[in-house]
Amino acid sequence: MSTSGGSAASTLIDRATLGDRLAALDPVAAADPSTIRAVRAPGRVNLIGEHTDYNDGFVLPAAIDLEIRIAYRPTDDRRVVLASDADPILAEIDLEAPPPPRGDWTDYVTGTALAMRAAGLPVTGFRGVLASTVPVGAGLSSSAALELAVAWALSGEAPPRIAPLDLARIAQRAENEHVGVRCGLMDQFASASGRPGAAVLLDCRTLASRPVPLPDGLVLVVAHTGLPRALGASAYNERRAQCEAAVATLARYRPGIGALRDVDEALLDAHAATLDPIVLKRARHVVRENARVLAAERALGERDLGTVARLFAESHASLRDDYEVSCPELDLLVEIAAGSPGVHGSRMTGAGFGGCTVTLAEAGAVDALRMRILGEYADRSGREPRVWTVDAVAGAGELA
Ligand code: ADP
Ligand code: MG
Repeated sequence: MSTSGGSAASTLIDRATLGDRLAALDPVAAADPSTIRAVRAPGRVNLIGEHTDYNDGFVLPAAIDLEIRIAYRPTDDRRVVLASDADPILAEIDLEAPPPPRGDWTDYVTGTALAMRAAGLPVTGFRGVLASTVPVGAGLSSSAALELAVAWALSGEAPPRIAPLDLARIAQRAENEHVGVRCGLMDQFASASGRPGAAVLLDCRTLASRPVPLPDGLVLVVAHTGLPRALGASAYNERRAQCEAAVATLARYRPGIGALRDVDEALLDAHAATLDPIVLKRARHVVRENARVLAAERALGERDLGTVARLFAESHASLRDDYEVSCPELDLLVEIAAGSPGVHGSRMTGAGFGGCTVTLAEAGAVDALRMRILGEYADRSGREPRVWTVDAVAGAGELA
C-alpha cells in the first residue's frame, strides 16, 4: 500500500509477522514461539484544543490506527534489548543501572523504565522488535506511542498493574524528565485511553474524561505537509513561558488564577493593557480555544456540522495569527481541504511548525479530497504530502 493513499489500517504489521522478526533475532523466541508476546500503542490526532493541555485546559484527541507495535519475550536478566525498524541504533538498557540521556530514541525507553520504577511499578527485561506506522516528528505522537508500548512491554504483565490514565502520567514524566520535553498530558493520555469510534475529551486539570463519538458517515483524514516539525522544541518552550507570564500578570488582579484555564475573555479584555502584546495574543488563543473544545463536543453530539467546521476554522486561524505556530504549508493544506466538497472542518493538529492537518469529511468525499491534496498541494508547495484515512481506536493494549 502506498503511503500517500488508503487507510492507515492497511499499513499495520500483523502479530505473526512481527513475531517472526523477533524469532529471527532471538534464538530463544525462535525455539519456543509461545514465549512471544505483542503489544500495540496508537498515535493520535487532536480534533481541537491545541496548546491547551499545559494550560490546564481541554483537549479532544482520538487514538488512531497508525501504531507502534512491539513483539517481545520477557526475560529475567534485568536487560532490555529492543530493535526498531525506524532507527539502526539498538536500545540496550541495564535496568539495574539505566544510562543517562544520550539524545537518541533510546532515551524514551530508558525514561519510561525510570519513570515506572519511580512510581513503584515492577519493570522486567525483554528482547523485542518494534515496528511503527506512526510517522516520526509529524505531530501524531510517535513519542507517546513509543512510551506506552514500551511501558506495556516493561511491565511484564498484561495488562500492567495500573490504570491507563496513571500509565499515561508515567509516560509523560519519562518525556518531561528524561527526554527533556515539557509536554502536557494529551499525547500520552490519547495513546493510553483511546476509544474505538470516538474522540475523548480530557479535562487536563481534573483528568476527568468522556468519549465523544464521531458522527456516523464521517471519517478522519490526516494529511502530512511533508515538512518535519522544525524549531519545535524551542518555540514550544517559549509559548509555555508566555502563557506563564500571562498567568503571573493576571493573578495580580484576580487571586486564585493558577492557569489560563481560569481566565475568560472578559477578564482578559479588562486587563489587556497590562499584558505585553505578544503575551496577550498567546493568552487569547488559549482562552478561546478552551471554549471551542467544549463547543465542538456539543456540536459533534448534535451533528451540527456547520458549527464543527466553523470551530475548526477558528482554531486554525487562532493558531496561525495569535499563537503563531502554523506555517505556509499547513495553511495551504487547510485551505485546500476546507474548500473541498463534503468536508466539515480542517485544521492543523499537534504542536505546529510543520506536521499534519486533521480533516473531517464525508466518507464518499475522501477520494476526491485525497486527489486534490496529492495534486494541488504538491504542485503549489513543492512538497510531498502523505494522506491517510484513520479510524479512532482503543488505547494501548495486547496485540491479538
Ligand atoms: P512526534 O511525537 O510528534 O512524532 P516527537 O519529536 O515528540 O514527535 O517524537 C519523535 C521521536 O520519538 C523520534 O525522534 C524518536 O526518538 C522517537 N521515535 C518515534 N517513533 C520511533 C520509532 N519507530 N523507532 C524509534 N524511535 C522512535
Ligand atoms: Mg511527541
